[in-house]
Amino acid sequence: MSSGYGYFCPCGQLCLTLPCTAETLRHREYDTFYVLDLKMPHVDHLTKDEPFCIVRKDGGYELRTALQCRRCGLTCAYALENAPGYIYLNPTLLKEKTVTL
Ligand SMILES: [Zn+2]
Repeated sequence: MSSGYGYFCPCGQLCLTLPCTAETLRHREYDTFYVLDLKMPHVDHLTKDEPFCIVRKDGGYELRTALQCRRCGLTCAYALENAPGYIYLNPTLLKEKTVTL
């Protein structure tokens, strides 16, 4: 058995499991969210909502899909329409705990 890192919603629901800590992932410069490459081994327990458009601080816009906690519906992460293969994790919401894989 090996250990990994679980990322929990404030409600206590497990949202994501990674083999390494999210601290080692790169941050998106725009909002400092963690960038998870979906090619990396991981298990996510998030529910996808409908895509929605946001206007960025720099005046551009982007289409996001909200990734929500299964239990409480809180948006813990998002995916970008123009960057398939990545999800962006909210570093302030998710709590890290070591888990056994
Ligand atoms: Zn939750």
